[in-house]
Amino acid sequence: MAPQREWFEKDYYKVLGVADNADHKEIAKAYRKLAKQYHPDANPGSEERFKEISAAYEVLGDEAKRKEYDEVRRVGAAGNPFAGMAGGRPGAAGGFGANFKVDDLGDLLGNIFGRSGRTARGGPGVGGAGTRPGGGPSMAARGADLETSLHLSFLDAVNGLTTTVNVTSEVTCRTCHGNGSAPGTAPTVCPVCGGRGVINDNQGLFSFSQPCQTCSGSGFKIEHPCTTCHGTGVEYASRQVKVRIPAGVEDGQRIRVKGRGGAGRNGGPAGNLLVVVRVDAHPVFGRRGRDLTVSAPVTFPEAALGTTISVPTLDKPVKLKVPAGTRSGRTFRVRGRGVPAGGSRPAGDLLVTVDVVVPSHLTPEEKDAVASLAGLMDGENLRHAQWGEP
Ligand SMILES: [Zn+2]
Ligand SMILES: [Zn+2]
Repeated sequence: MAPQREWFEKDYYKVLGVADNADHKEIAKAYRKLAKQYHPDANPGSEERFKEISAAYEVLGDEAKRKEYDEVRRVGAAGNPFAGMAGGRPGAAGGFGANFKVDDLGDLLGNIFGRSGRTARGGPGVGGAGTRPGGGPSMAARGADLETSLHLSFLDAVNGLTTTVNVTSEVTCRTCHGNGSAPGTAPTVCPVCGGRGVINDNQGLFSFSQPCQTCSGSGFKIEHPCTTCHGTGVEYASRQVKVRIPAGVEDGQRIRVKGRGGAGRNGGPAGNLLVVVRVDAHPVFGRRGRDLTVSAPVTFPEAALGTTISVPTLDKPVKLKVPAGTRSGRTFRVRGRGVPAGGSRPAGDLLVTVDVVVPSHLTPEEKDAVASLAGLMDGENLRHAQWGEP
């Protein structure tokens, strides 16, 4: 089912840059050219444009749909049959398109309105071909921003990945396609206001209009509510949303997925989806922004005499020279071995912090060796140098 409600608002011909009377070949050609130009793989950040192009071609590229679309737009341009506000088209008596029999309206309504605008004043907000009445009878509303969390392993967070999240949210009812009427039935024109959504109250020279109470201004009436959504036109459903996680995300960071939140109402844009990232700890590495951290245990002789050690990285181990006389807690930087480069951001570094380990158990041989070292190194002198006379 095409998002029919959008048909009043979107000029698909303009989107594809073709004339209203372009033939199928021209349309397909224009589509292919634009799709290539705006494909998100080739052109990051162009997803919205690409979606628009795809949506346009879905309709114009299909002969039956295109015919329906042209019809819908013709009616919209002819006079917005449900201009919900007084003064929208003075004297147009609701502006039923000249070529429309009232009998057709049930079908038309059933087809056109993705969601009916029966929530408050005004009509369903039909704004075809620039006839959207000013001042807000349009009920178009942006969809809600939704939030979900995504659990990532340490390595996935470091390297980035493309994955999917499950989102449960309000969607257009799939049974009635959002019009609120049971399948096989369609909303009928409100008998009180004749589909205008407003009632005129003539008082002498002046004519006042107010929203029709019977239909709450929607201009039509649902006689047989859809049993899935009880006439609301919305239901809850879960869907998979693709999320691209950039390399180097941190725990608690929010990734915004534009336009993948709650569905818009009456042709309004969809909200955004916010994905809150939860990152697991790693047994070996820590994170400090784009840098990775790792602790390197060394023995006292290694620290005192200097050595070369092998340090793990996300890739292959690297050799690190620990100079003679390195004290515990000193940090060495291994360039480019942190979070990999991505986009405009350079790779982070690996920060290696030396930890001179004091053994809690010694073998008898080690004990002898340490004892002879102790005879050579005077602790009293060391403390005297630090404090002077205590
Ligand atoms: Zn009414
Ligand atoms: Zn329904």
